[in-house]
Amino acid sequence: MITNNELGWNFDNSYTRLPNEFFTKTNPIPVSDPKLVILNDSLAQLLGLDVTELMNHGVEIFAGNRIPDGAEPLAQSYAGHQFGHFTMLGDGRAVLLGEQITPDKARFDIQLKGAGRTPYSRGGDGRAAIGPMLREYIISEAMHSLRIPTTRSLAVVTTGEPIYRETELPGAILTRIASSHIRVGTFQFITGLGKIAELKTFADYTIDRHYPNLRDADHPYLALLREVIKRQASLIAKWQLVGFIHGVMNTDNMTISGETIDYGPCAFMDTYDPETVFSSIDTGGRYAYKNQPYIGGWNLARFAESLLPLLNENEEKALQLAQDEMTKYIGIYREYWHDGMREKLGLFDQEEADQDLIEELLELMKRNQLDFTNTFVALTFDTLENIKGCRTDDFKKWYDKWKERQNRQTRSTEEIHELMRASNPAIIPRNHRVEEALDAATEGDYSVMERLLEVLKNPFEHTPEQEAYANPPEPTNTPYQTFCGT
Ligand code: AMP
Ligand code: MG
Repeated sequence: MITNNELGWNFDNSYTRLPNEFFTKTNPIPVSDPKLVILNDSLAQLLGLDVTELMNHGVEIFAGNRIPDGAEPLAQSYAGHQFGHFTMLGDGRAVLLGEQITPDKARFDIQLKGAGRTPYSRGGDGRAAIGPMLREYIISEAMHSLRIPTTRSLAVVTTGEPIYRETELPGAILTRIASSHIRVGTFQFITGLGKIAELKTFADYTIDRHYPNLRDADHPYLALLREVIKRQASLIAKWQLVGFIHGVMNTDNMTISGETIDYGPCAFMDTYDPETVFSSIDTGGRYAYKNQPYIGGWNLARFAESLLPLLNENEEKALQLAQDEMTKYIGIYREYWHDGMREKLGLFDQEEADQDLIEELLELMKRNQLDFTNTFVALTFDTLENIKGCRTDDFKKWYDKWKERQNRQTRSTEEIHELMRASNPAIIPRNHRVEEALDAATEGDYSVMERLLEVLKNPFEHTPEQEAYANPPEPTNTPYQTFCGT
């Protein structure tokens, strides 16, 4: 029998010490024939886990068939606005094994997604299919390499059991790692129950876990709101700067830590078009690329509402405090976004007219149907002549203006190039490449996915191997569509 020490588990499950409302103890439901599909070696090491032992014995744990010593499995309670409609939810197909304390004393949730029915499953089967779980693995790891805060993926196993969606699919479980799974929806849940003492306990818990320096603030709960606004503004700016479309920005899919969570119908934009929507269920375009910053604000307003009872005893005063913070959100977002855009354009300092320069570029990219990622790469390496839509007169005019602006800085050409290189990824997980990898994986061939994961690891290195993966898909008449895959 393999012991905990040999595998490296070191659990301390603070969530279990919260009031009962926040979770239900639930074990994962064992599966018949689990097989390890992929293990994230470097993440396992970071967590303090033994990679060799995990390769040999981890599959039973990642499948939920064996509970490691010290784990205390539970399903979390939460609520959420889904496409604007409030619902009581909870982990319907995920089980939190516990919190791993790493050798560096960091705390990470270890969650099995697709681990079977829980008390929150409603009509669902509690399971997940291999395609969506590998999709989350690929995209979350790509986001991490793009330096965007995100939950991460430690492993995927197949269960040996079919699941039934439109068709029969192989079942799979993803082991998801997060600095926590506390969501806007968790706050909505407890406030929605009218349990104010528990709300306070939970807000204190969240502050201790994510923002310990706020403990001594004059007004810790207002400071918490302010911090979460900042983190989310920064996160969404990062999404916009790489063309990432989350696709299902419901309040249950927004973390308090500021990590990207729940890779369902998400996808990266190829051709720049602010209206881009990939999700088949987002018929109104609520979560379109251009709307993400505003939806972020809408979700944060729901967070602020949940905190109202802690902001002031007087309802009106509480509302005023919350509104004062909320009105700052879009300005904070714009500043992060402008800073990021300036870096993408090799600008170290600020000028008033930068905003116009940026807007004009985006307008040209839209009009000339330019690829978002590759245009910035071409600007970085001065290879615009290779891109058809950049050889137009209006683009050249913009280019000259941009060069003039760059040259007004007291920075060397090398410095400018280095800044751009470090700010413009050579590759993103292109939809057609992800699909290609998932199609092969569903047939049992994981090599296509492994190669893709390898090239996605260092997006800012701009290596020759990445070039083939940088091509946008061939033009087609059928727009790319993503599905929740639940
Ligand atoms: P998501 O769309 O993945 O953010 O999930 C929204 C809610 O539906 C969450 O409460 C999930 O736990 C639940 N859910 C999603 N898929 C399933 C499933 N197959 N079985 C049970 N619950 C599910
Ligand atoms: Mg979710």
